[in-house]
Amino acid sequence: MKENYLITPIDYLKGVGPNRADLIKSELKIFTYNDLLNFFPFRYIDKSKYHKINELENNNSEVQIIGKFINLKFSNNFKAKRLIGVFSDGNHEIEVVWFRAVKWIEKSIKLNNDYVLYGKVNWFNNKPSLVHPETELLEKHKKSIKSSLLPIYSSTETLSTRGVTNKLIREFISNIFEKSSKKFKESLNQNINEKYGMITKYEALYNVHFPISQALLSKALFRLKYEEFFYIQLQFLFKNIYNKSRFKGFNFSKVGNNFNSFYNDHLEFKLTSAQKRVIKDIRKDFSSNAQMNRLLQGDVGSGKTIVAILSSLIAIDNDFQTCLIAPTEILAQQHFISINESLSKIDLNVRILTGSTSKKERVILFEELKNGVVDILIGTHAVLENNVIFKNLGFAIIDEQHRFGVAQRSKLWKKNLTPPHILVMTATPIPRTLAMSVYGDLDISIIDELPPGRKLVKTVHRTDRNRLEVFKFIRNEISKGRQVYIVYPLIEESKTMDYKDLMDGYESIVRDFPIENYQISILHGRMKPNDKATEMERFKNGETQIMVSTTVIEVGVNIPNASVMIIESSERFGLSQLHQLRGRVGRGSESSFCILMSKNKLSNEARTRIKTMTSTNDGFKISEVDMKLRGPGNLLGTQQSGLLNFKIADIIKDKDILEFSRADAKELLSSDPELKNNKEIKCEYNLLNKNSDFWKHIS
Ligand code: ADP
Ligand code: MG
Repeated sequence: MKENYLITPIDYLKGVGPNRADLIKSELKIFTYNDLLNFFPFRYIDKSKYHKINELENNNSEVQIIGKFINLKFSNNFKAKRLIGVFSDGNHEIEVVWFRAVKWIEKSIKLNNDYVLYGKVNWFNNKPSLVHPETELLEKHKKSIKSSLLPIYSSTETLSTRGVTNKLIREFISNIFEKSSKKFKESLNQNINEKYGMITKYEALYNVHFPISQALLSKALFRLKYEEFFYIQLQFLFKNIYNKSRFKGFNFSKVGNNFNSFYNDHLEFKLTSAQKRVIKDIRKDFSSNAQMNRLLQGDVGSGKTIVAILSSLIAIDNDFQTCLIAPTEILAQQHFISINESLSKIDLNVRILTGSTSKKERVILFEELKNGVVDILIGTHAVLENNVIFKNLGFAIIDEQHRFGVAQRSKLWKKNLTPPHILVMTATPIPRTLAMSVYGDLDISIIDELPPGRKLVKTVHRTDRNRLEVFKFIRNEISKGRQVYIVYPLIEESKTMDYKDLMDGYESIVRDFPIENYQISILHGRMKPNDKATEMERFKNGETQIMVSTTVIEVGVNIPNASVMIIESSERFGLSQLHQLRGRVGRGSESSFCILMSKNKLSNEARTRIKTMTSTNDGFKISEVDMKLRGPGNLLGTQQSGLLNFKIADIIKDKDILEFSRADAKELLSSDPELKNNKEIKCEYNLLNKNSDFWKHIS
């Protein structure tokens, strides 16, 4: 086998030819032998089973039958010519139908010889038939089949209509192995191989395509999944180390007046020990001479904002500017107001920049940013635009990171010659394995403790039948001085209908809560930013008691006196959204409530979501359930899901393998940072780095 045998273009593979080669390249993005070997089956079928014709079931699964063709004839009943065979397993018969290449098939089939047929059963008038099954002489079948487990590869419409079947793919792969030596370049080191009793690379690839036994298949899968995770983690860790060595970070050596005076004299509460720990992490990064890239995970209401403020003060004490970027205008406004308020006792310039900042305001603001008048800039995506230039941005915070992508993070990097320290904060926790897979290049801090005195938000599920009782409860809470949110869904696809629901809901609330006694706010996406801000203010100041709204209040809104959250049509919300919404209450010292309204009849999934909400307040637990229900990609939104295109591994099912592989990658890099003694790994790493799509997402 030549050194570069595996990178031979598939055009040269026996049986492929130029047309199929082009097809495979365009449909499957497979270009070389190696790509094809790394095109893994997505499931296996047990071929040791043969079905009896009279026991076939109408369940859409593949069947395998041994028997003989006892008759074969053309039929002209239909427009196109068909070939119809009668196949008998000795006791019963089944019809087999072909309508492509019929002449050729008719010639090649030998009557009264033993055959194995394999395919999906068609049912018509309660009669089974097989259409274009895989057909093989029993004798040949026995020779060709090396194992009872038959791999199934994913296909595309184009591939199957153009005859590139599962069987053909298997043949191609078999041809690669045939001409190869049995030694493939090893891609892990001895240490790791021994630790897990890994089979060789060759054995792993061979068995994943042609499993010799269930046991060897399991070992093959383990090794290939491990490798997939391992190299991604290695890449993340490299990136982390590389960034630290490449960019000298700003050194914030001192803690000065702003921090001290705010911390000692104006902070209205004591920090939780989790908050203190995180600030310590950040301070350490600030003076480490390397640029910080840190993810702050914490549940709703765990107090991430104050961590951001205190860290900003350190940056400002060292004569740098800072910025805080939020995903929505409302949240940016709210941060602006509350941060201004918190910092009112110390003399700093805080400004805001959003999509609705006027041209005139911008001209002034941009000037103030450039000459360093502004200490803290709060804003939305608008801050990332190229024309926003700071004098010396030292520290940038991204709030509710899940709404942003990697690209936006890297835009921040380019704001200065030296990139600022970066802190990204999540809205709600994401599962550990997901954090590893998507933010694996960041250092992670976790706030795992809520401020003292927080009461759990008591959460119940009610249906329309309970509406009167729910309204009575609302009145009662309002009479105690509390405020209430009532939230309606707003899904992009059904915007107009949702909007109507919101308005209908609002009107019915107004009827039940007459204007003489109750003031009601309404908030939705179609309102002008100024009107939204006014309504928020009114509710915040207690001028209104009820806030009827869409999910625009979902993230971050902080009004401690509001203690009841009613979520209408809660079955239509995702778990993380429900948890976020619930997080709007339980922010003050009063008992808080969340009432999930829904129709009577619920899908299983909706029931699980609601049940999860009524049984726990723990965002980390909720995010685990959410990931299982929706899959990791959907949990993150489209921004980062490109990072989750694994070939063979699965971050839910193979969670343990992910954990091991990250730990091993870490250990490897700490003992051999340049992979001088791990040539195999270095070689494989470079190969993947060059060829894989994946790396683009995180480079
Ligand atoms: P989140 O982590 O969801 O962004 P916030 O930063 O908005 O949470 O904090 C929620 C509320 O808790 C705010 O009103 C904040 O002032 C308050 N808070 C934060 N830390 C503490 C603390 N250590 N003790 C008491 N209240 C706190
Ligand atoms: Mg927040």
